[in-house]
Amino acid sequence: MSNAATTYTVLLVEDEDSIGNFMAAILSANQYRVLTAKNGKQALMMVTSACPDLMILDLGLPDMDGVEIIKAVRQWSTIPIVVVSARTHERDKVEALDLGVDDYVTKPFGTAELLARVRLCIRRYYSGRTQAGMQEGIFIAGDLRIDYARREITVEGEKVHLTQNEYKIVSLLSRYAGRVLTYEFIMKELWGPNLPDNNQILRVNMANIRRKLEKNPAEPKYIFTEMGVGYFMVDGTEN
Ligand code: CA
Repeated sequence: MSNAATTYTVLLVEDEDSIGNFMAAILSANQYRVLTAKNGKQALMMVTSACPDLMILDLGLPDMDGVEIIKAVRQWSTIPIVVVSARTHERDKVEALDLGVDDYVTKPFGTAELLARVRLCIRRYYSGRTQAGMQEGIFIAGDLRIDYARREITVEGEKVHLTQNEYKIVSLLSRYAGRVLTYEFIMKELWGPNLPDNNQILRVNMANIRRKLEKNPAEPKYIFTEMGVGYFMVDGTEN
């Protein structure tokens, strides 16, 4: 962190020593306090006893599936969880995201990428961005500006006219900027229990949003598609 006033504690759950040691070294070098667990049982014990600020979780553990850890932790804690996994199938990614993990990094990954994801999750969680009060603020990413109190979106200073649902989708994505939101998550937020049984209506809304927001919808600058998983908005700043 550029502002090193706070030291965050990261619980690193990884059974492969080479990868685990490597990640621990990188995190320590970047001023994180690192705790390590090599299996699921240890991880569950440490997450309750050591109160880490964030958990990095490998899904393939010797004694249990990492998914079981996510389920157990999410019953009582909302701490940021970054999954680091060799599972590249979109089904695994969707499952983890739907269970409430904050990010999903596919192995192999670069150190810069891992650090960026960890930093983003911590900033988002501990700055209170996802709390209800933030809907008063202003979100800025490049030339995109969202004024939540006025429900007004501008791009390069020009007002963008969105339908109510389109606005809801954009403001939801901005609230979780940098994080992939699954189709199901977005639809539940928008339509509640009466959510449509496929994501066709969401796709139509998204096509309209892109047409209005992006200069070139084929090369978006603000909202990106994670194929087969969902959408995410580029990270921005809030004030
Ligand atoms: Ca493993």
